[in-house]
Amino acid sequence: MVVLCIDLKSFYASVECVLRGLNPFTTDLAVADERRGRGSIVLAVTPHLKKSGVSSRCRLYQLPNKDIIVARPQMKKYIEYSCKVYEIYLRYVAKEDIHVYSIDEAFLDLTHYLKYYNAAPLEICQRILKDIYNGTGLTATCGIGDNMFLAKVALDCLAKYRSDNIAYLDQNLFYQYIWDIRPLNNIWGIGGRLVKRLAALDIYSLRDLASTSPEILEKEFGILGLELYQHAHGKDATTVRAARSYHPKSKTFGHGQVLLEDYNYKDIRVIMVELAAEIATELVLRRLCCQEIALGIGYSKKYGGGFYRQMKLDKKTNSYKTLLTAFEKIYVNNIKDLPIRNISLRVGKLSNEEFIQSTLFTDTQNEIKERNLYRAIGEIREKHGKTAVRLAVSNTEKATLVKRSILIGGHNAE
Ligand SMILES: [Mg+2]
Repeated sequence: MVVLCIDLKSFYASVECVLRGLNPFTTDLAVADERRGRGSIVLAVTPHLKKSGVSSRCRLYQLPNKDIIVARPQMKKYIEYSCKVYEIYLRYVAKEDIHVYSIDEAFLDLTHYLKYYNAAPLEICQRILKDIYNGTGLTATCGIGDNMFLAKVALDCLAKYRSDNIAYLDQNLFYQYIWDIRPLNNIWGIGGRLVKRLAALDIYSLRDLASTSPEILEKEFGILGLELYQHAHGKDATTVRAARSYHPKSKTFGHGQVLLEDYNYKDIRVIMVELAAEIATELVLRRLCCQEIALGIGYSKKYGGGFYRQMKLDKKTNSYKTLLTAFEKIYVNNIKDLPIRNISLRVGKLSNEEFIQSTLFTDTQNEIKERNLYRAIGEIREKHGKTAVRLAVSNTEKATLVKRSILIGGHNAE
């Protein structure tokens, strides 16, 4: 397996810089809603601001006392850019080989493309990052690995320190560079609570974890224990295709967050906006719609309790605005003015949406027109093959589309 894990560097802050014609590596910019006062949450800061020691999740008043541009979050724009980047991935691999992990992160499975491109993974990776930069102005970092876990760890732990923003890990390099990293919460999939439970077993690094017997780990953590053991040896059998098809099977998906501190009922809205954008992006990129949403809120331990409410929507949608409005409706109808510690947003009753993602940004009239057009195209394609009709929008990438459908055919033949 050859997997890429690509992350857009300081995504929200970088988009804001691009929109202003500024360079995120020389600009001090923070994304936050200033209207909410000095205590409002900073969602992202530029790499340049990070360098001066600012954490990417701080409060406005915690920013250093210098000239900093404060940009109000524009989630719709970020979704747009995320889609643009996704379109670039589609120039290289079929959508079946892309797993959208979050609004600014994706896994690409290159395994079956190396022969086709007759190029090394590094070379393809460099081309993708260059295309992203030329097409959007955004800088991306990339982990390359022999499986999804190694790619993600290469990204998180190594790529950001490399001058070319790319890092590669196979098992041997994994032992060499990753095995002794502490604390363990630097490693994908290991959170703060798990770190504590592992420490109780005298496990502080992946090296420790790898030398622990899998039986003990299974007894202590169940299935997760066995997965940890595999990961500690740099192994991961999950494929991108399996990962991306995980959600539709479950017919519902969502994002939740256990917050690092208590949030008041005003602040949590910012997190909600962010999670709604993340969900909308995922729906759009995977051509899915939902007809049901659910919001869960848990109050701080001191008070306990919370709520989980579902709501049916009037019509199927993957529009960020519609979803956010619906989540907010549940929110205002149920929220109490108590400190909040966790939040989760879910969407359910998923169905396929066959018309193309750009409809997200157009009005309803056009939406209907476009939907009918794409439906017609879809039918022709179904009958006569993928390349029978080409979309005007993909004219520029005509060659790629044709190549890709040949490639997909090749896959099926294997
Ligand atoms: Mg990022």
